[in-house]
Amino acid sequence: VKSIAVLTSGGDSQGMNAAVRSVVRSALFHGLQVYGIQRGYLGLINEDIRPMDLRSVGDIIQRGGTILQTARCKEFLTPEGQQRGADILRKHGIDGLVVIGGDGSYQGANKLSKLGIKTMALPGTIDNDIAYTDFTIGFDTAVSIVVDAINKLRDTMTSHERSSVVEVMGRHCGDIALYAGLASGAESILVPEVPVDLVSVANRMKENFTNGKRHSIIVVAEGVGSGHDIANKLFEMNGIESRVTVLGHIQRGGTPTHNDRVLASRLGDFAVRKLIEGESGKACGIIKGELVATDIDIVVNSKKPFNMELYELAARLSQ
Ligand code: ATP
Repeated sequence: VKSIAVLTSGGDSQGMNAAVRSVVRSALFHGLQVYGIQRGYLGLINEDIRPMDLRSVGDIIQRGGTILQTARCKEFLTPEGQQRGADILRKHGIDGLVVIGGDGSYQGANKLSKLGIKTMALPGTIDNDIAYTDFTIGFDTAVSIVVDAINKLRDTMTSHERSSVVEVMGRHCGDIALYAGLASGAESILVPEVPVDLVSVANRMKENFTNGKRHSIIVVAEGVGSGHDIANKLFEMNGIESRVTVLGHIQRGGTPTHNDRVLASRLGDFAVRKLIEGESGKACGIIKGELVATDIDIVVNSKKPFNMELYELAARLSQ
């Protein structure tokens, strides 16, 4: 490859900018031309493409969001839209593409790869729901934000001897709830991967309050349902009122943690090197600290395994 482009797609996540910076600077380091595509596949189809130089990615490593912006694009779901995307890339002399996004964005990258464009996909999502990588870019920051919020809630809940239900993001994946719940000492963690037993959650709350516990924190992954519904059901069962906090999009904003920046920097550089080696249709990830490239076909058809060991540990430690 001589010329590559980079785009961000789907929901944004902290660390996407660090990944864009890494792709651009690694490509330039290796003597490639590099372009930025605005607004994901929408910008591709609309030819919103500009050359990137070293300075174009200056002062962004610490910023949340994505300077390339992101979008969802219906037209790109059609074979005609995908063909148009590939044609536009060729017209600009671009033979390699790095896509930073979630599951849907991976599918798009796969389609372009089958149309002859060399593509690499990087996991840019807070949800940590992508298989063949232990972590996605943004997950660490999102978990930190949840932990910070729960620390604050704990202070006030303890003063008032109240129970708190915290609803967190993650779509169908419970990882944000799991890691944040473990790290903040939550009493119960409800995730879509494990059948929810509300009766035992309610009984446990009651027992703990009777035994002198002064607060209780229940973390609910959005994939399980609404925090308000859970709180209402618990109240019906044990008569303990809970305050509900839905953290929402603040989980997707703010400055990325050093872990996310390091991960993004490593993955961006890895993707560029893989393109130079002539690979295509690969999803880049990190497994046990090692960078790995797996066929996108395999990744999008696999479900990320849930970490039961951590889940059971959290349960043991929250007695
Ligand atoms: P997140 O998980 O953070 O929301 P995502 O990448 O899964 O990110 P989507 O909206 O699912 O977000 O996908 C982003 C874009 O990727 C879509 O708007 C569409 O243009 C493209 N895309 C999604 N699915 C496909 C597909 N099956 N084939 C081609 N392109 C797709």
